[in-house]
Amino acid sequence: MLCNSINLDNCIKCSDCNAVCPVSIVYPAYPGPKNLGPELERLRLEGISCDTDWIEYCLNCYRCNLVCPNQVDISGMINMAKAHHKKPLIRKMRDFWFSRPWLLGRLLTIMPRLTNLMLNIRPVRLLMSRLLKISSNRIFPIYIDSDINVPIHDVPKSDSVIFFLGCSIRYNQPDLGRKVVLFLQRIGIKSVNIFSGCCGLPALANGDIKEARVRARSNTEYLIKDVLAGSFVVAACTSCGHMLKTCFDGLLDEDSDMKHKVQKIAKSTFDFGEFLMSRSDLFLFDNNISSSNLRIAYHAPCHQISQGIGRPWFHLLKRIPNLQIEDLDAGCCGMSGTFGFKEEKYKISMDIGQRLFDSIRDVNPQMVVTECATCRMQIEHGVKIKTIHPAELLLDLISAKT
Ligand code: SF4
Ligand code: SF4
Repeated sequence: MLCNSINLDNCIKCSDCNAVCPVSIVYPAYPGPKNLGPELERLRLEGISCDTDWIEYCLNCYRCNLVCPNQVDISGMINMAKAHHKKPLIRKMRDFWFSRPWLLGRLLTIMPRLTNLMLNIRPVRLLMSRLLKISSNRIFPIYIDSDINVPIHDVPKSDSVIFFLGCSIRYNQPDLGRKVVLFLQRIGIKSVNIFSGCCGLPALANGDIKEARVRARSNTEYLIKDVLAGSFVVAACTSCGHMLKTCFDGLLDEDSDMKHKVQKIAKSTFDFGEFLMSRSDLFLFDNNISSSNLRIAYHAPCHQISQGIGRPWFHLLKRIPNLQIEDLDAGCCGMSGTFGFKEEKYKISMDIGQRLFDSIRDVNPQMVVTECATCRMQIEHGVKIKTIHPAELLLDLISAKT
């Protein structure tokens, strides 16, 4: 089992899930969440072979789960089906690497200058397209070998936070990680314990359940001691937050001791924006935020919506004097982590993002803000507009004033 329990008999075939699925909306041939989830799950449980390549076209966006009136764990069923899906060797090799951003990050930061040069030159991209079916249209993020060097104070655990860094911030945006730690310290969190493990979501989305379980187990074993001592876990990457809050439970549910631990961790995990909103001491910052005449647009990532926490960053940024901010509310960007990098999925990824791209062009902002690193990549690729994590904007305006 993956997320929650397999509750396929709760499906009343209302098709609400199909109506919100970003893939079904742009790709009518896609069988949709109802068929790929509960309908095929019934056959799978009866031992009837029903493997289909369509299973790989699910973005793992969780939008179907959110609208289901009977809490059927549709995306959990599809993720489990992905684990048994047979694919050609080239795609298997590619997805092995895509499932392990922690390993890719370690290797690609050994010689980051050479890596960054090689990854983005045309002949190498064409070679990767031939050998690994990675779209030559995609630009890889910059890899940076840098630790988050911020002085950490030794204080009681009850006043401490574990900052779940995630692979993208660790290997591609360490400067954002540094700013998050400094901000947490400035709102009174004296002890920020930085944890740079991989959450396991890339493995889950790429059908490598074994690797996802290894990550879920090692993360749980690392986090639980401090969580039981009163620490909160804070994630600035929405996919890490979604994974910690939603999916460890189903991945490790065969071990009752683990199940108890992951539920405790899920309850103690906060998105960074959600955490800031929950701290009343943040209000002390209202007088310390510089004004800004920027006109920006906000995009809510799927794995932020899946956490059911509203739009904390949209409301935090609204505190900035004179800032004009528009909530785009234009659906999924289509990137979905590594999905948009896959050659056979590049076009559908861009087709899904089109509604968001059009909405950004209509609003015509000076920049876009969104919490998810791969949403940022997709928006910059599709619209050619500067796109940053909302924390970067807020933290810079606070730093500028104080
Ligand atoms: S929304 Fe839920 S109940 Fe309705 S068809 Fe989809 S899985 Fe079944
Ligand atoms: S998780 Fe997203 S892409 Fe996958 S079936 Fe559900 S709505 Fe569609």
